[in-house]
Amino acid sequence: MPVPKKRKSPARRDRRRANHDKVTMPPMTYCANPECGAPVLPHHVCPECGQYRGEAVIEVVSEEEMEAKRKARKDRAKAAKAAKAGAGAPPPAKGEKKEDKEEEDDEDEDEKK
Ligand SMILES: [Zn+2]
Repeated sequence: MPVPKKRKSPARRDRRRANHDKVTMPPMTYCANPECGAPVLPHHVCPECGQYRGEAVIEVVSEEEMEAKRKARKDRAKAAKAAKAGAGAPPPAKGEKKEDKEEEDDEDEDEKK
């Protein structure tokens, strides 16, 4: 296996990094919406107004609205789970299996606490 004979000096290393590892600004354009004009990556939907080439493509939601939506989704999932647990009683044919399931649910609750 080939091994470098000498360690590269810090100056040499830095000269290499100055050319090879530089971070350049992406080519930015501006939003076509005259009311917005925010800097946008080319061929991308504007994150400020949700328009692409002057046409509304996505709905822009504020952080507070997003948080409210997340909360509502969580609550709905919880309600659905509770309803499912309550509806689990009706089929009485599988008595033994049902008892097993209830025990598992209890274990899950213990783990959470
Ligand atoms: Zn825009």
